[in-house]
Amino acid sequence: MNKIVMKFGGTSVGTGENIRHVADLVTQYAKNDCRIAVVVSALAGVTNSLMEVACQAKKSDEKHIETFTKELLQKHKEAISSAITSKLIQKEVAQITEKTITELEKVLTGICYVGELTPKSKDYVASFGERLSAPIVWGAIKDHKLETQCLTGKEAGIVTDSNFGEANPLMNFSTHLIHERVAPLLEKGTIPVVTGFIAANQDGIVTTVGRGGSDYTATILGVALQVDEVWIWTDVDGIMTTDPKIVSAARMLPQLSYQEAAEMAIFGAKAMHPRALGPVIKENIPVRIRSIFHPENPGTLITKEPAANETNPVKAVAMIKDVAMLNVNGAGMVGAPGSYAKVFDILGRNNINVMMISTAASEANISIIIKRGLLGRAISNLEIALLERGGVVSEVSAEDDVAVIAVMGANMKGTLGVASRIFSTVAKKGINIRMIAQGSSELNISFVVKEKDGVAVVRAIHEEFNLDKN
Ligand code: ASP
Ligand code: MG
Repeated sequence: MNKIVMKFGGTSVGTGENIRHVADLVTQYAKNDCRIAVVVSALAGVTNSLMEVACQAKKSDEKHIETFTKELLQKHKEAISSAITSKLIQKEVAQITEKTITELEKVLTGICYVGELTPKSKDYVASFGERLSAPIVWGAIKDHKLETQCLTGKEAGIVTDSNFGEANPLMNFSTHLIHERVAPLLEKGTIPVVTGFIAANQDGIVTTVGRGGSDYTATILGVALQVDEVWIWTDVDGIMTTDPKIVSAARMLPQLSYQEAAEMAIFGAKAMHPRALGPVIKENIPVRIRSIFHPENPGTLITKEPAANETNPVKAVAMIKDVAMLNVNGAGMVGAPGSYAKVFDILGRNNINVMMISTAASEANISIIIKRGLLGRAISNLEIALLERGGVVSEVSAEDDVAVIAVMGANMKGTLGVASRIFSTVAKKGINIRMIAQGSSELNISFVVKEKDGVAVVRAIHEEFNLDKN
């Protein structure tokens, strides 16, 4: 008998019909000798709207709260009536939904009166998305006459530190609790439906494991329950060689190593939460990304080793838009220990994440890629801190019309000539490269071009390495 954790993301549970479909899928596997634990995200868009309304509440905008909760109730009620057929179960779930939304309204009103939104209360508000979606999925499974039980991440035993917004699971302790609380359900054939994304700290205060964190919940449960595979059900067939909107011949990749998948997650292949692979890598539990619309496809299997028959050094190419390049120049940096540290310290202190860096051995220039929206904050803080003091930096400039192209594949490691093939492909298109970086893991080569050239570069590289063919 197979033991599987199945995670259903926001679009998989986007509408009542989709939730019904999810319940059908779960039932089908459950009747085929599978023991299943289900993890669900909030209905598509709900977490974002909760974050928005929380920010408005902080500005003491009380009017907004009532309209918001009314709409939220409506949305979930609609989902309930199309996902569940039994009137009795519908009523049961609707009652839970109403109670939960009343609680949310109180929380938002509280934020409104205090005029303050701490990371702790933000997580609490965010948790309502999954607290509302999971009971509907639970009801839809129950509607199929299967034994099932709904649990929050906290009830399931996922305990984290108190790093609200991006909490880290205490794996040993959580494993112990999950064993105690979830494993017995699985043993007796009851399907646990667990809210993704949300957990609790040691004091029982609600935390979240980061946006898109339901994947993380799934792998934490998968490891604790020692399942055969963790399945991430989504709206795409698997991880692709590139964005099919850019290259229509983009192909689904049947197998990837953990390292490759992690690399692709970081580069926004939209496939999964970057930290989610952490727990399964240690325990060597395979993860499968597959589509709820094409369940007959096996999807992308992520395992320890890359597929043995793969010889192509390059497996995928991605374009990351919405980035900007910062150039920090100064002859004073040459041979001056600590000068780079100063630059990164300023960015770090201002909460600006550095995505990519490159610097020449001349040491007079550092190029840094950050999210485009953070550019103003980055430049102004660098200017204040560095230029005013007349120190090592003489100039800070930026380009906000660039894109990062990331070329990935485990077989690049040690294969000669990959970089030269990539760069001559770009050169043949007459496109200028602004910046280059390759980490010593050799899993990826990233470079920066003008955003308007990005699509042409992705297409050319996809073709050069025949990524559309096996
Ligand atoms: N609902 C959460 C979010 O939107 C978690 C998830 O979808 O995985 O970030
Ligand atoms: Mg989501």
